[in-house]
Amino acid sequence: MDCLRCGRTTDYERVAVDRFSGAVEGSLCTDCEANWLNGHGDATSISLVACFKCGDQPKFLFPQWDSIVESEDSAGAVETEYRIQLTTPGSCAECTEE
Ligand SMILES: [Zn+2]
Ligand SMILES: [Zn+2]
Repeated sequence: MDCLRCGRTTDYERVAVDRFSGAVEGSLCTDCEANWLNGHGDATSISLVACFKCGDQPKFLFPQWDSIVESEDSAGAVETEYRIQLTTPGSCAECTEE
């Protein structure tokens, strides 16, 4: 799975989920998590209802893998498991591209 921000296929602990469709759009690699998410966010005010950078409506949410499960069903679609919590960080489309 490619990182939503930098496009690399590398280690990740979070996935990027479209808040409206619920579709997994990619991963958030550990570099982007450290430099972008943790570098800008105020951990005490992170919540799924506001972009962690600008406070706007988030487009993407970045839940942590609870357990990394990617399984293919018979149709070949990859199922990913994640859990959204109140403290799951999110970002708007603009901040995601910064
Ligand atoms: Zn990345
Ligand atoms: Zn934003």
